[in-house]
Amino acid sequence: MNNALNESQELAGLRALVTGGASGIGLATVRVLEQRGASVAILDIAEQGPEASIFAHADVSSDESVRRAVGEVLAKLGGLDILVNCAGIGAQGDVSTNSDQEWHEVFDINVVGVARVTRACLDALRTSSRAAIVNVSSIAATVGLPDRVLYSATKGAVLAMTMAMAADLLPDGVRVNAVNPGTTDTPWISRLLDRATDPDAERAALAARQPHGRLVSSDEVAWAIAYLASPSSGSTTGTYLAVDGGMQRLRTRPTPSA
Ligand code: NAD
Repeated sequence: MNNALNESQELAGLRALVTGGASGIGLATVRVLEQRGASVAILDIAEQGPEASIFAHADVSSDESVRRAVGEVLAKLGGLDILVNCAGIGAQGDVSTNSDQEWHEVFDINVVGVARVTRACLDALRTSSRAAIVNVSSIAATVGLPDRVLYSATKGAVLAMTMAMAADLLPDGVRVNAVNPGTTDTPWISRLLDRATDPDAERAALAARQPHGRLVSSDEVAWAIAYLASPSSGSTTGTYLAVDGGMQRLRTRPTPSA
């Protein structure tokens, strides 16, 4: 980790909530926000979170569960300045694969979940003078990936919501941005690899798909989230930051052999 970045206390005094903060990108984000001085709470469906963080057990697909958990978090933190909407699940298949029920279930978590948590936090965010929301979208929102129709649709929706939310909340002083990670080395990807017939070959193929030749680290995504959440990005709203090793925009070619 970059010590200069982590010694910075630029988020001191700020209060943050990270959904999906018990694992992967969310957990890395919790750590980075804490290192930079923020007080951080986690909202997650997992049974427990990491030590030393405020943990609220909730399912983002249940409005009642979200409202109760956000209420607990606001009482403990005494308000809210930063919301990171990171909780999400995957789905595989082409357009004919997933049942209607699966479409509804994945949208309920990945898309409506963002709306549920955000609206429960809005009054608190509006009273902050340094309010920021960061949504975790995906490279799948902007690039056609095989066998990811449903998942891509949810992440495209998150990206579109980010822009619309940014427009609505600008007058309230709440900035809204997104990160679009490429394939990131988290327990989610480990679970996918475990199911592959040849996990090493699958991992190598995923790494090779990204122009920088490796998986993105969860810390790299967390640092991008922390940047967008920080008051130092006060003029940045309604946009997204790709953290994808160049996958969205670069067209590289193999180095010619001598
Ligand atoms: P992960 O599985 O390691 O973590 C996801 C977290 O979300 C878990 O702690 C899980 O318990 C929580 N969660 C899942 N469903 C929930 C629900 N209904 N209510 C509350 N919490 C719930 O996955 P990750 O790789 O860290 O992914 C985090 C986010 O990043 C997701 O939104 C995912 O779409 C996005 N993303 C991941 C990658 C990647 O390659 N790993 C790439 C782009 C975007």
